[in-house]
Amino acid sequence: MSTVIFYITENGLNLAKRLRRLYPEARIEKFNSNEVSDLWDKHKNLIFIMAAGIVVRTIAPLIKNKKTDPAVVVLDETGKYAISLLSGHIGGANDLAKDIAEFLKGEAVITTASDVNNLTAIDIWANENNLSIENMEIMPHVATRYINNGALRIYSEIEIALPDEFLRVNDPRFADVFVTNKKDIYLKNPQCSSAECSTGSCHVKEQLYLRPKNLIAGIGCNSNTSSDEMEDAVRTVLDENNLSFLAIHSIATIYIKGNEQGLKAFAEKYNLKINTFTADELNTVEGILKSDAVFKATGANAVSEPAALLASGASELLIPKHKRGNVTVAIAEQRLEQKGKLYIVGTGPGGIEHITPYAQKAIKNSDVIVGYGTYLDLIQELTEGKEVVSTGMTKEVDRCKKAVELATTGKTVAVISGGDPGIYAMAGLVFEILREEDQKIRRSEDEQITEEKTSVLPRFCASALDIEVIPGISALNACAARLGAPLMHDFAAISLSDRLTPWELIEKRLAAAASADFVTILYNPKSMGRPEHINNARAIFLKHRSTETPVGIVKGAMRENESIIITNLRDMLNYDIDMQTAVIIGNSRTFVFDKWMITPRGYENKYEF
Ligand code: SAH
Repeated sequence: MSTVIFYITENGLNLAKRLRRLYPEARIEKFNSNEVSDLWDKHKNLIFIMAAGIVVRTIAPLIKNKKTDPAVVVLDETGKYAISLLSGHIGGANDLAKDIAEFLKGEAVITTASDVNNLTAIDIWANENNLSIENMEIMPHVATRYINNGALRIYSEIEIALPDEFLRVNDPRFADVFVTNKKDIYLKNPQCSSAECSTGSCHVKEQLYLRPKNLIAGIGCNSNTSSDEMEDAVRTVLDENNLSFLAIHSIATIYIKGNEQGLKAFAEKYNLKINTFTADELNTVEGILKSDAVFKATGANAVSEPAALLASGASELLIPKHKRGNVTVAIAEQRLEQKGKLYIVGTGPGGIEHITPYAQKAIKNSDVIVGYGTYLDLIQELTEGKEVVSTGMTKEVDRCKKAVELATTGKTVAVISGGDPGIYAMAGLVFEILREEDQKIRRSEDEQITEEKTSVLPRFCASALDIEVIPGISALNACAARLGAPLMHDFAAISLSDRLTPWELIEKRLAAAASADFVTILYNPKSMGRPEHINNARAIFLKHRSTETPVGIVKGAMRENESIIITNLRDMLNYDIDMQTAVIIGNSRTFVFDKWMITPRGYENKYEF
């Protein structure tokens, strides 16, 4: 159970019960300070419906640190204010307060400076990128500098994408924040003379260290070595080599040591995974100093060095084997791949107000926007200041390839489609392109690719990307809504564009939909300006439906130039039908009432109205 709601008064209890609709699993408790201290460590969210003063006095002795304390939100009895009191960022109290305020139609009280100033919070960004904050105590100084400057200067030794308000700097002395596994960035810094470095005279005050988890500790040990001895050996080797313990990603060792008690206890204490390799696997690594004693005991030529290399994928060690008492330690550095993100976003039929908030957020979070001119124009205010890749309508294959390529470089890319991305739009194409590249990978693994054949090598692979398809309101939803309720029963969507589908197949589907009495929505009714398509479609429907069958013609639904016409199969060609139009042909039961086109669901047979 992750949420507890404390109340004092009857009104508080009623409000708590209302909140249950938002948090169905929440536990509701009458306030008492012992209960609060019992539940403090066990729950993610604590919501208090009472005066903030009572809460402050009660939780004061329980607060430990912002990485582990629960989110605390205080509400007044009427639910007017939701105050984010503790653990606003990492703990999520700001988001909790916002969600509660939205649900209760009240106001969230947020006081963390980065949120108030609309800046990416350092601790949230670090958390999202799996970076550990080492010297948290100086965070207030760094955060103040960040807010005053409106920018945070980062010196990073790993490849990492930065939000707009973070600036990359190439000299550590100018940075507010370091992303590095080096314990002290200035030690052995080639930009400093060694004398300066050793006296520490180029240290700038209050610089924050963020630790990427990119070190693999290869460990070999005698049986029954204690966890303290292991920890001591690893810490000493890292210290002596100016590396941070917080940068350890995982431990690597030989299979038979995977169950060594001391090693397991050490790993558990710091939540580190242990990767094990068989002696045969370890012996595949070349260029390692062999030990006869180790070979006799384990069958492996060596343990710590090859294990670190295999687990990290690195070709050389960062720190070769050090022996300390019963333990050997070698360190390798893992290259952290920044996984690119590809959003395939539907932007609905018209302007911003018909795009889901989630899709708007995805667009705002993207580094690059890829799309077709007209759709991009409609959402201009969301894409300002971003890199925009726009090509003409028929260049969609180029556009998709470009989007995937950009995402593969670690960027966050949004491919924009009008309407829904999975309906006659970009989603399918992106996946087809990815599948083609994956097949190339398989083929290149099967065949020996010669130099002349490098053009068939894959450029990217799907597993290197995080892909998310974000739905949008399709023309069928938008046009149906404008007409009333024409799609209330089974329906078919058919595109009259023969650019990618042979016309014979389109005719076959039109005839099938018409004969099966499907309501039918026609997309692309005047593809490539060919009027005969819609004429032919009408003729097919007239073979199966009466001339009086209602037909809705909606142009530019939810756009400035919107027009809505309700007519019938006989007269439909008297109206302007173009590429911004969708045509909905009713079924045999569809009727027109007032200015609406309605397909009955069948209620009238079952109920009396
Ligand atoms: N992915 C889009 C469809 C793209 S195909 C979607 O889900 O809506 C393009 C066709 O969609 C147009 O030729 C037209 O038939 C239809 N269309 C798109 N937007 C429209 C709108 N606002 N009003 C009417 N029809 C629209």
